[in-house]
Amino acid sequence: AERAASGAPFSLVSEASALLSNLGVASARYTGGTLKARSPITGETIATVVEVGEAEARRAIDEAHAAFLKWRLVPAPKRGELVRLLGDELRAHKQALGRLVSIEVGKSLSEGLGEVQEMIDICDYAVGLSRQLYGLTIATERSEHRMMETWHPLGVTGIISAFNFPVAVWSWNAALALVCGNAIVWKPSEKTPLTALATEALFDRALARFKQEGGTAPDGLSAVLIAGRSVGQLLVGHPKVPLVSATGSTAMGRAVGPRLAQRFARAILELGGNNAAIVTPTADLELTLRGVAFAAMGTAGQRCTTLRRLFVHESVYDSLVPRLKQAYTSVTVGNPLEAGNLVGPLIDQAAFAAMQTALGAAKEAGASVLGGERIGVGAMDEAYYVRPALVEIAEQAGPVMQETFAPILYVMRYSDFDAVLDLHNAVPQGLSSSIFTNDLREAEAFLSARGSDCGIANVNIGPSGAEIGGAFGGEKETGGGRESGSDAWKAYMRRATNTINYGRTLPLAQGVKFDV
Ligand code: NAD
Repeated sequence: AERAASGAPFSLVSEASALLSNLGVASARYTGGTLKARSPITGETIATVVEVGEAEARRAIDEAHAAFLKWRLVPAPKRGELVRLLGDELRAHKQALGRLVSIEVGKSLSEGLGEVQEMIDICDYAVGLSRQLYGLTIATERSEHRMMETWHPLGVTGIISAFNFPVAVWSWNAALALVCGNAIVWKPSEKTPLTALATEALFDRALARFKQEGGTAPDGLSAVLIAGRSVGQLLVGHPKVPLVSATGSTAMGRAVGPRLAQRFARAILELGGNNAAIVTPTADLELTLRGVAFAAMGTAGQRCTTLRRLFVHESVYDSLVPRLKQAYTSVTVGNPLEAGNLVGPLIDQAAFAAMQTALGAAKEAGASVLGGERIGVGAMDEAYYVRPALVEIAEQAGPVMQETFAPILYVMRYSDFDAVLDLHNAVPQGLSSSIFTNDLREAEAFLSARGSDCGIANVNIGPSGAEIGGAFGGEKETGGGRESGSDAWKAYMRRATNTINYGRTLPLAQGVKFDV
């Protein structure tokens, strides 16, 4: 392992606690507890967070259910007002929360701030949505009848989130669930308790302002359960939670999905991806280079939408790939709080080990591997910085078929467009995808029924970095859930079909006669 240590070790303990206090989190919540909060930037423990037990979690779910029974009666645009105030708090505290995200997850400051911006965007979207929760009026076959559909609040929405978007995922679900009239109970990743506490504090401020301004909000409307997997399981099994939105690995979805199905609860599953891009002969290589570099190396490869497979046409392979390799060798890896460092650390030792295992398997399969080695930053043994890896491999097999949550880009050469479409879709996951081309036929084919089988398919943009206006999610082992924009809100409500007879006779549907 390369140990080109740059600078002396440093500590983020006091900065993390200053940010938490600035964001309104009581120090009793993150000192003397049993859950160690770590910063991957230094590898040190930055706080010890108090966890909730199962009894407390059950109580929070019961309270949320009682809150739901009241909140569903508050008119939706008034519920939107609470989300508007949450957006205001997020705007006011964007710098502090964004920095805390960077400290707790190790993303660059610009990405930490971007994550908070995404929370603000979804609040704005949900405020508008609070006046647009509409149903259809449908033609009926009976005279003097009207048929329509109504959307009603559903109940307690359980939210389980992954470490890599520790607060944005909560906001996608929370903002929509709240305007839809639901109460929310959140089990954040055990790797990111501090940003969860900070988000809870900002929500509480918004709630206090909402009440000051005359709004009615029941106690227990939102709960945050800092705890391990067992409390996640409790949430998934609880009969008073009709919907669980769970973001994380496919392994987690395999455990959670069947348990929800068994009790006929709804699931929004947002699981792993193995995202690809195809670079065709007509691609703008300058734009492709930038799109690929950000999508594959950004966030140290720890986005569900990270680019992991690249298919390059043989006619442009030798123009693009050497330049890409140059970008891999020169990209700045280091403390993500310092401007200029584009790639921060992996989340922990396990992520580093998984990366090395995948690279080992690729080498065994005859691949040529550039990068992937550990880099010393600030001489800290518990921090895992790596140079992103570019792996030229002949066949899509072995490690290429799996999601390794680290910056590994598998590069493959192709010659035939139809064959590469088949290869593109031949992995178990189906989250995001891209084509780089200026050929209209190829672009449209990629977006068509015979093209990409993913929930997200882009042209001349990398697969990562979605906007909140569109529905977000993917197919196959990615779980099938959709969150955020478009009509994703419908998953958080129940639909009733209503038929109203305003006449004096009782015609039956399908012409049935039943005269008593
Ligand atoms: P993870 O699966 O280890 O954990 C995710 C969450 O699930 C955590 O809160 C964890 O406590 C909880 N959990 C795990 N097992 C559970 C169970 N049996 N019952 C209830 N809860 C359980 O994932 P991670 O390492 O935190 O995140 C990385 C993964 O998340 C990657 O696979 C990534 O692709 C995926 N991800 C997907 C999306 C998406 O929108 N599709 C977004 C972000 C991350």
